[in-house]
Amino acid sequence: MSSTPLSTSPLAGLIDALGSGAVRVVDLTQPLSERTPILQLPEPFVNAPGLTRHEISKFDDRGPAWAWSWLEIGEHVGTHFDAPIHWITGRDGEDVASVPPGRLVGPAVVIDKSAEASADPDYLLTVDDVRALEAEHGPLPQGGWLLLRTGWDARAGDQEAFLNVEHGRSRTPGPDAECARWLAQESPIVGFGVETVGTDAGSAAAFDPPFPAHSHLLGAGKYGITQLANLAQLPPTGAIVVVAPLRLVDGTGSPARVLALVPGG
Ligand code: MN
Repeated sequence: MSSTPLSTSPLAGLIDALGSGAVRVVDLTQPLSERTPILQLPEPFVNAPGLTRHEISKFDDRGPAWAWSWLEIGEHVGTHFDAPIHWITGRDGEDVASVPPGRLVGPAVVIDKSAEASADPDYLLTVDDVRALEAEHGPLPQGGWLLLRTGWDARAGDQEAFLNVEHGRSRTPGPDAECARWLAQESPIVGFGVETVGTDAGSAAAFDPPFPAHSHLLGAGKYGITQLANLAQLPPTGAIVVVAPLRLVDGTGSPARVLALVPGG
């Protein structure tokens, strides 16, 4: 490709803004470790393993000048990406490796339901909630990501608080079935992100359809991201999100680094 003089590049302003701090990079990723909370499905379903690190060498006879490990980890562990083929409704869709890179970078819209989720851990996001956000901040953008802020990221260091199981059921917020359908089929977003262990509410096994965020969004060829952090540092609109899962061939999901470019120092 031909070289564009930097002064006329559309990225010139961004480069200046990153240098001056007028645009900040915010890490929306939870730290990934052996203590990262993991989804716990009830029997008879099988659960994903969390992270186990196996040491290959550590400056010893096995490798005197280098340290490295190999990893054992489920695809859907920690801050991670859900590809369409994760769900039966999207089984003929994209694996992680096939996702076009342009769909992994886009405008972020943050809907703040942290007060509601604090008052009621079973809080369900509705179409009316999203319509109210649109009335104040404009329509959801083409190619955008809707990120649901619930304050749940503060619990991410503690599996018990994070999964919040009471009497055998997980009490965590998420979208109701109609909101999930609407986001998948009627809104122009490409993905939906949450701070909780999955894109569906803890009570969503009993919804129609069960797990509607997974069923509708992945069935529509859209994406999910979970276990996000630091959404409180984002404005409702105006940030750009960069979602970077491994380019895992045939992957149904992947741990991801998720970053946001945020205006204002
Ligand atoms: Mn997942």
